[in-house]
Amino acid sequence: MNSFFIEFRDPLFGIIVFFALIFAITFISYWWGRYKSKENFRDLDKFLKQFRSVPSQKELISLINKGNSSEKSWLLLANAYVKNGDYEKSIDIYNEILKYGEEFNSKETMFLLGQTYFKAGFLERAKQIFLEILKNNPRTPEVLRALLLVYEYMRDYNSALDILESLDELKKDIITDSAYLKTLFILNDTDISTDEKVNKLLEIYQVSNKLTHMIFEYIFRVNPSLAWENFDKSKAEFLIDILWQVDKKDLDLDIITQNGYLVELYTARGDIELAKSSDVFEFDILINLNNKPDVTLSFEYLCNCCHRVYPFAFNRCSFCHSIDTPRIELNLVKNYHRGFGEDNNSFQ
Ligand SMILES: [Zn+2]
Repeated sequence: MNSFFIEFRDPLFGIIVFFALIFAITFISYWWGRYKSKENFRDLDKFLKQFRSVPSQKELISLINKGNSSEKSWLLLANAYVKNGDYEKSIDIYNEILKYGEEFNSKETMFLLGQTYFKAGFLERAKQIFLEILKNNPRTPEVLRALLLVYEYMRDYNSALDILESLDELKKDIITDSAYLKTLFILNDTDISTDEKVNKLLEIYQVSNKLTHMIFEYIFRVNPSLAWENFDKSKAEFLIDILWQVDKKDLDLDIITQNGYLVELYTARGDIELAKSSDVFEFDILINLNNKPDVTLSFEYLCNCCHRVYPFAFNRCSFCHSIDTPRIELNLVKNYHRGFGEDNNSFQ
């Protein structure tokens, strides 16, 4: 039985203890290393998580109140949130800055808050903020313009026109804004007849010589013959999308044949055959295709001010808020509508 045990004085015992110690140390250091690498990964993950998710409202408030960052940093952060469309977070930041920030630039912060409320669609709140700024600073054109936009979106055109008077007193150019607001006012007025609307719109057009698309889009819809008589033919290209859609029975050939652009346009559409070619590339292609049924025009609207492109017509750019700045771009596309009609006919 004793032969199974090794005495501790035996050199073999020392060797066994030595290897056991080496094994124990290797084993512990291996598991310690694994534990540490896991811990490091967890820390790194936690750190990176901060950048993947936005801070909660509570975290934001406590961060601002601690005052570790300058007010400018918070304004920059709020601006970044606005650019990403996270208006709620930027509104929280602006509100906290107004509560705890420095007094001297509270007007600017309030203006930014009002603009963010406007972008987020809280028109009433935006209005209140702008009115509060104007209470102490009534001669601030930027705030007056911002409030004018709010009134326009709220369809409170009378208040918007009052703001224009204030801007006029400050010697600001209000001709386009005034024509635009009056046109909107007339178009949305349910108490006047269509004829009365047309007459008032023509008056605005004759005085301002602006808003061709906005005014004639309506008149071509309700009274095409009056539209043909009154629109400035030199501005036909600003109305190309409307002219392209005019019903064949409403075409005034006497007027069309007196204008080179209109002759090319309606030759390209296939209503007349008076032009052999055109300087407008798209018209030229259509004229040379001899009005093939499967090609037509489509339109895009580019803002001359901010260069944004819209698939629909606009009078005030929703991004830069400039008025009467769309440029109509032409595209040749397959005419699915006509193709569909012809296919249907082929089954008859
Ligand atoms: Zn624009």
